[in-house]
Amino acid sequence: MTGHRFRLLASAVLMAALVLFSGCHRPEVLTGDFSLVSPLPQNLFAGEEPPFVLSPRTVICYPEGNEELSFAADLLAGQLQQATGCRIRTTTRPPRRNYIFLGIDPDMGSGLQDFQGPESYCLSVEPAAVSLVGGGAQGLLHGIQTLIKALPVPETPGHYHFALPAWTVFDYPEFPYRAFMLDCSRHFFTTDYVKKLIDILALHNLNYFHWHLSDDQGWRLEIKKYPRLTEVGSHRPGTYYSSTGALDSIPVQGFYTQEEAREIVRYAAERGITVIPEIDLPGHTMAALAAYPELGCTGGPYEVSTRYGVFDELLCVGKDGTLDFVKGVLEEMLDIFPSEYIHLGGDECPKVRWKECPECQRKIRELGLKGSGSKTPEELLQSWFTSEIEAFLAAHGRRMICWNDVLCDWGNQVTGEPSRRTVIAGWMQPESVAIAAREGYDAILCPVGHFYFSNATYNRLRGAESIRRVYDVPVIPEGLTPEQRRHVLGAEACLWSERVADTDSLEWRLLPRLSTLSELQWSNPASHQGDTASFNAYLPRLRHMIDLYTSRGWHWKTDIAEAWE
Ligand SMILES: [Zn+2]
Repeated sequence: MTGHRFRLLASAVLMAALVLFSGCHRPEVLTGDFSLVSPLPQNLFAGEEPPFVLSPRTVICYPEGNEELSFAADLLAGQLQQATGCRIRTTTRPPRRNYIFLGIDPDMGSGLQDFQGPESYCLSVEPAAVSLVGGGAQGLLHGIQTLIKALPVPETPGHYHFALPAWTVFDYPEFPYRAFMLDCSRHFFTTDYVKKLIDILALHNLNYFHWHLSDDQGWRLEIKKYPRLTEVGSHRPGTYYSSTGALDSIPVQGFYTQEEAREIVRYAAERGITVIPEIDLPGHTMAALAAYPELGCTGGPYEVSTRYGVFDELLCVGKDGTLDFVKGVLEEMLDIFPSEYIHLGGDECPKVRWKECPECQRKIRELGLKGSGSKTPEELLQSWFTSEIEAFLAAHGRRMICWNDVLCDWGNQVTGEPSRRTVIAGWMQPESVAIAAREGYDAILCPVGHFYFSNATYNRLRGAESIRRVYDVPVIPEGLTPEQRRHVLGAEACLWSERVADTDSLEWRLLPRLSTLSELQWSNPASHQGDTASFNAYLPRLRHMIDLYTSRGWHWKTDIAEAWE
C-alpha cells in the first residue's frame, strides 16, 4: 500500500468514527432564510423568536378526511427527507409541539386585497410549530415549495440539523397564468422525464405546463379514431441539418398513449399544475398529412418532415372532412385533458396552397370572405376555421389559445379576426401582446427574443446578460390602459426542441432562466425592471436556486456564475 493510499484509508476510518460518535455531539444547526426564496414571496415578516428546528421527532399533521392534504403531507415529507435527510412522519393527530400543520381554508384572506384565492398561502413559523395554510390545494403546494426553498443547502456533506427562521409569509401570485412550454414533436421526451420536468416547474410556482404534441416532424399523442396519426406520424428516419446539408439517419420516434397522457395530467394536477395540450393547426401539420393525405389541398403524398422550417402544406380547410377530423381529435383530447385552456397553434401558415386550391377558394366564395388591406381572403379563411374550432371548444366549456399569428403579423399589422374568446399567445414580440390587449383579447406574453429558451442567439449570451434578457421584460407591455392591462393573463417560456435531443441540453437551456421567469410571473417586479439594484437583489436568490439545482442533480447553464465572479 502506498503512503498516499494509506492516508486515504486512515482518513476514511477517521470519518467513519466521527459519523459513529456524532450522536454524542450536537450537530451544527443550519438555519434557513426566507429572503433567499425565488420567486420572492410577496410579503415577508421577520420574527424575533428562535427558529423551528426540524428533528426526527417532528411530525407533519393535517385534519382527517382530506385527500389533498394527505397527498400534500406525503409530498412535504418526501421533499424534507430529500433536503435534510430527516425521515418525518405524517399524522392526523397533532402533538403538543414540534409539528408542521397543513391546512386549507378557502376563506383565508377574504377582505384583504390581493391576498386571497386558491393559490395564496400563509406560512407561519414559531419555535414550537409551523403552520401552513393554503387558500386552496394549489396555495398549499406553493407554500410547501417555499418552505423547502427556504431551507439551507449545505456546502459540504455532513450531519446537520435544519431550522426555519421564525418568520411569517403571506404570499399570492401576481399573474394567474404562469406557464412553460416543451416541444415534444421535434424530439421526444419520455413520460418519466416529463414528470421530472413537472417537478422542476412546481419548484418555481408555475401552474401550467403547455405540452406541444404535434408538428411537422412528429405527432405524439395517440388518437384512437385516427390510428395512423401515431402509426405513420410519430416516426421520422432522421433529420437534415442545415450545417452539413445531410440526413443524420438518427430516427426520431415515440408517442404518448392516452393512458400515459392521463398519468401525466394526474401527476401534474397533484403538484398544482394544469396540462395544456397543443395540437398545432392548420399549419405545422406535415406529420398529420403524411398519415391522412386526403386532408391536404393537393392530396399529397406527404412525409413526416425531416427538415425544420415553415412549410407551404396546410390542412385543406375547404374540405368539410377537415373540420370533422379536428373535432374527432379534440373529442378524445378533451376526455384526456380537463384543462380549461386548449392550445390550437395557428402559427406560420403561408397561404400558397389555399390560394391555388379549388376547395379552399370555393369555401372563401361560399363564406363571402372579401378581405381588405392586411386581411386577405385566405387570412379570413383561417379566422373562420379557428373560430369554428373555438365555438366547438366553447360548447364543451373550454377556451382556445392560439399563437398571435391568428391576429397579427411581424409588422404588427392586424391580419385576422379570431373570435373574441380566443386567448392570444404573443410570441413575435411584446407588441403582439399589446395589440391583442388593445383589440380586446386576453393575452399571454412569450416573446421569442426573451422567453424562448431554445433561441440560439440568446443562448450565446453569458452570465448576467443571459439572465437580464429575461428579467428586464415587463410582463404587461407599456402604454396600455388599466382595462387593457387586465387582458394580460401572464407569461410563458417556450423550449423548442429542434436542437434539443437530450435532457441534459434541455435543462441547460431551462435553468436557471426558469427561476428568472418565475420572478416575473409570480412577484412581477415591474416597477424595477431594467433597474440594476433590483437585479442585484435577485442574484442571492438565484445563487440559492442554483445550489438547490445542484443538490438535486439538475443541469444548469454554468456560465451564469460570471454574474457574481
Ligand atoms: Zn384547400
